[in-house]
Amino acid sequence: MSGRLVTTDVLVVGGGLAGERCAIEAAAAGHEVLILSLVPPRRSHSCAAQGGMQASLANCVKAEGDNPTVHYLDTLRGSDWGADQEVVNIFADEAPVAVRELAHFGVPWSRMRGGKNHYFIKGEEVEIDEALDNDGLIGQRDFGGTAKWRACYAAAGTGHAALYAVDSEVVRLGITVHDRTEAVSLIHDGGRCLGAVVRCLRTGGHFAVMAKATVIATGGYGRIYGQYTSNAVINEGTGASIALDTGIVPLGNMEAVQFHPTTLMPSGILVTEGCRGDGGYLLDKNMNRFMVDAEPEKQELASRDVVSRHMVQAMRDGNGVDTPYGPHLWLDIRHIGEEHLRTKLLEVWDICRDFLGINPAEELVPVRPTQHYSMGGIRVNKDGEAYGLSGLYAVGEAACWDMHGFNRLGGNSLTETIVTGRLVGRRVAEKLAVSELRADTGVALDAVAAAEKRATAWLDRDGKGRSVYEIRDALGEIMMYKVGIFRTGEELEEAVAEIRTLLVDCNNAVLRCKDPGVNPELAFALRLKGMLRLAMTVAMGALARTESRGAHFRTDYPLRNDDEWLNRTLVRWGADEDAPRFSYEPVGMIDLPPGHRGYGSDERIAMQQSIDSYNATVLEEQGREGRLETVEAMGTRLKRGAWQAYVQ
Ligand SMILES: Cc1cc2nc3c(=O)[nH]c(=O)nc-3n(C[C@H](O)[C@H](O)[C@H](O)COP(=O)(O)OP(=O)(O)OC[C@H]3O[C@@H](n4cnc5c(N)ncnc54)[C@H](O)[C@@H]3O)c2cc1C
Repeated sequence: MSGRLVTTDVLVVGGGLAGERCAIEAAAAGHEVLILSLVPPRRSHSCAAQGGMQASLANCVKAEGDNPTVHYLDTLRGSDWGADQEVVNIFADEAPVAVRELAHFGVPWSRMRGGKNHYFIKGEEVEIDEALDNDGLIGQRDFGGTAKWRACYAAAGTGHAALYAVDSEVVRLGITVHDRTEAVSLIHDGGRCLGAVVRCLRTGGHFAVMAKATVIATGGYGRIYGQYTSNAVINEGTGASIALDTGIVPLGNMEAVQFHPTTLMPSGILVTEGCRGDGGYLLDKNMNRFMVDAEPEKQELASRDVVSRHMVQAMRDGNGVDTPYGPHLWLDIRHIGEEHLRTKLLEVWDICRDFLGINPAEELVPVRPTQHYSMGGIRVNKDGEAYGLSGLYAVGEAACWDMHGFNRLGGNSLTETIVTGRLVGRRVAEKLAVSELRADTGVALDAVAAAEKRATAWLDRDGKGRSVYEIRDALGEIMMYKVGIFRTGEELEEAVAEIRTLLVDCNNAVLRCKDPGVNPELAFALRLKGMLRLAMTVAMGALARTESRGAHFRTDYPLRNDDEWLNRTLVRWGADEDAPRFSYEPVGMIDLPPGHRGYGSDERIAMQQSIDSYNATVLEEQGREGRLETVEAMGTRLKRGAWQAYVQ
């Protein structure tokens, strides 16, 4: 890219599944689309996704009776009632079409085999006769927190298969992609987003991209947990961070951070929930299946927040296997057999051999929970448009749409990327058909100058400041050990104070490499303050939320409190403001009343307000928080009472 100013109809920041699926929809409608990515799109984090994507196709015996309403129920319970129920309906309704469409893009799904099949369920081998009519349909496996087998998969390389197919479609449509290019700030006039300032990671040069619509699809912010994450090194949350910098667009539910039960010890590389879905189980150091006692009904396939807590508790009780890197537990997939591992869980087989040097068909796999998914993100309405700034959208893990609430179910994120990509791409295309590019070049060039000044300031700073990598590592330790799986008010207060100190350290940090061009240290330094600010919003949000819901567990407030906390946290923090501003909004219109999830604790503080009176406030309160009008009125897609047929 050259020149200080580039224009396009749609700027998509992020070349993962969500960004590319959105770009395809807008380009297919005839709009000019430009995709930016830190890395070549096929190296986006989506490529690492393993186990599957959820869609109620009902293709096997264990999926019989599945439909979008059952998917809605599972997702909402998984969210611990933190999700927007209308959004969950939209998601579950559109998932089957979006997943089948991937087959047309070329995804080589693992397929059903009619006749006798052998599966492992709750550790026991069973034989199931699959209908011959289903032979060749998309295969489905069991995943955590679901009533039916719903996860469609391509061995254990589902993300890889999906991203390559979607990227081929991007190439086929001739969509322009600029990789090794980073959006470093948003250009806006206080009410409308006009594009982004972009930094070329090869030359260090800055440009403005002005667009009628800007879509942030930058993925999660797992790297604020340092080494304690399954996320790729590029998942530093820059999209959420540049939205936060505006001081106008809020981030939603930042304290809702998911920890995945099974990442390899000590590398943190994930082994998919599909291992447990296909019959693997967890063992402590005494070879005891502790999840059977802890969750007799769902066992290893309770939701991730519940399983992770039981695992940490087992290790705290002294039942972990001690190593110089800390304790771990075991994942046992030996009984599943080499043939299954080398076909349906191929990538797990490879990962165990390549990164641990073990044969998982014969040896136990050492695992422990680490940070995995960011439920929080840029708060958007059901059309994907950000609160407060028209023309700005967010999709995928970068967004808080919000279908995951306080815990995402496994397999729901990949599906979210393609469902929201399609839907938001469509909404963007519709809106662009009637809007013009407002090329306020003065605002754009001022924003470019400000970004250049920030980079120069880093290069010019000398002295005895800390290194940016030391600050990053210190942040990871704080986040994992004080803002982790079990949280207390005392530790969260310490975390807030320590992150504040790191923010001061960041202002005085000094680079070792002063090259303005290809300089990974400078590129990282430019992101570091944003990462610290995101971490602060997570820690402060967690401190303020005096209840436990989904993945946010306060040992000093162990109950879910639907009376006081059935709401979504919003946080705004302009780049020049000293401290974040928190507020709360209703989760959305409620149809399914808050209840027991079917796993985990059944104790909670009940909601006193009636659902009707809660619902009566939603439109006004969300409007006050900056929610923009949507194409369909609020509540239109809520299938009121449909769930009643499935709940006794
Ligand atoms: C190991 C692992 C396994 C997983 N397995 C599953 C699974 O089996 N099923 C499931 O449902 N979910 C799974 N997930 C979650 C799922 O993979 C992700 O949530 C999803 O892929 C995110 O897609 P995305 O498009 O939102 O973001 P990403 O794929 O992370 O893409 C982000 C894009 O943004 C770009 N980018 C970032 N910042 C900038 C910037 N400032 N400027 C320009 N470009 C930028 C990046 O280069 C990249 O192209 C897994 C996650 C992990 C970590």
